Amino acid sequence: MIGRQECPCGTGQPYDACCGRLHRGEAVAATAEELMRSRYAAHVVGDGDHLFRTWHPRTRPDDTDPDPRVRWTGLEVLAASEDGDRAVVEFRAHHEGGVMHEVSRFERRAGRWVYVDGDVR
Ligand SMILES: [Zn+2]
Repeated sequence: MIGRQECPCGTGQPYDACCGRLHRGEAVAATAEELMRSRYAAHVVGDGDHLFRTWHPRTRPDDTDPDPRVRWTGLEVLAASEDGDRAVVEFRAHHEGGVMHEVSRFERRAGRWVYVDGDVR
């Protein structure tokens, strides 16, 4: 079990105490960056339900299950800023064979941050 291992999102915390809480629905992300980290970690652990729940209904695809063929190897958050109920997080998500560099937009709806969309750099 991944529970006590270091969280894949890179905070250095155990998974259970970091993104695991959000994946299990025991806590909601306090910031857009925390949500973004939990979405990256959801790709690593294969939690499509978490991706579904944290995706804006307007932009959400029908199938949010992560591609199991992609092996994620690390996350770098480059910048994060919030302005009221909107936020932007820039990150690099490393995987075997490449890196995904994205500026993601988030929105707070009914007190919960959700992913809206992003621009790949
Ligand atoms: Zn985490």
